[in-house]
Amino acid sequence: MDKIEIRGLEIFANHGVFPEENVLGQKFVISATLYTDTRKAGLTDELTASIHYGEVSQMITEFTKNHTFKLLEALAENLCQMLLETVPHLQKITLRIEKPWAPVGLPLDTVAVEITRSWHTAYVAFGSNLGDKKKYVDDGIQGLRNTEHCTVEAVSEYLITEPYGGVEQDNFLNGALKLRTLLTPEELLDRLHELEAAANRERIVRWGPRTLDLDILFYDNEIIDTLELHVPHIDIENRDFVLIPMNELAPYYRHPVLNRTISQLLDSLNNR
Ligand code: ATP
Ligand code: CA
Ligand code: CA
Repeated sequence: MDKIEIRGLEIFANHGVFPEENVLGQKFVISATLYTDTRKAGLTDELTASIHYGEVSQMITEFTKNHTFKLLEALAENLCQMLLETVPHLQKITLRIEKPWAPVGLPLDTVAVEITRSWHTAYVAFGSNLGDKKKYVDDGIQGLRNTEHCTVEAVSEYLITEPYGGVEQDNFLNGALKLRTLLTPEELLDRLHELEAAANRERIVRWGPRTLDLDILFYDNEIIDTLELHVPHIDIENRDFVLIPMNELAPYYRHPVLNRTISQLLDSLNNR
């Protein structure tokens, strides 16, 4: 991706662990690499098609002066979040904060924290087969819309499907949605569990009846296998209630483990 850089922006502000730092203040030096696609701005010579580095420098300065954090980590995290949320066309940012006068009491040049943060695309499956299914699903989606650092970009049609996994139970309402998010996969899973809990979901039998089930199907092209989290979600290739809505949202998304597109996986399943 293309980069726009801001180097060595000096700001006098009050961040630090020691109370005197919060009162007296000191110098902070901030550098940012803004990742964006400059192609359109390059061809049209229009500033609105790109990122205005003057405005971004102003935003960084104001935010750094108007807040007080103990840690450079917290200042960096909050600055990245604010910029990703507000600067149009900004996809990813590397931010470095130096504190050359840090009260360490030793002859060092500077201390610094550098982090990289970006927008991610996740696909989330939803399902319900208990009670007012449509309301549970609608509320779950609304819950994601109301979640900080998340934008629901598209929602598939709701699909009525037969239960899966051999437990005798009512039909399901299923579907999937596309999410733009700053949350990590683990944070997103926690949020999905909160929304399931808000729907009074009880876990009695696996694949048994539930008011609301929310699964992370994909997260960018990441492959994650921990005790709590498998991404891509297991068994996608065998589940038409996942592949049909995914095919509506992203037929050419390529499953990063199976190396086949959603549309190919759906075709294979239909031909079995
Ligand atoms: P299945 O996972 O086969 O669709 P299920 O949705 O009924 O079955 P749950 O009881 O909802 O299973 O989830 C069990 C656990 O699966 C969750 O507590 C969660 O930690 C874990 N899990 C692993 N990977 C994912 C993922 N990608 N999305 C959601 N949960 C996941
Ligand atoms: Ca599930
Ligand atoms: Ca689940």
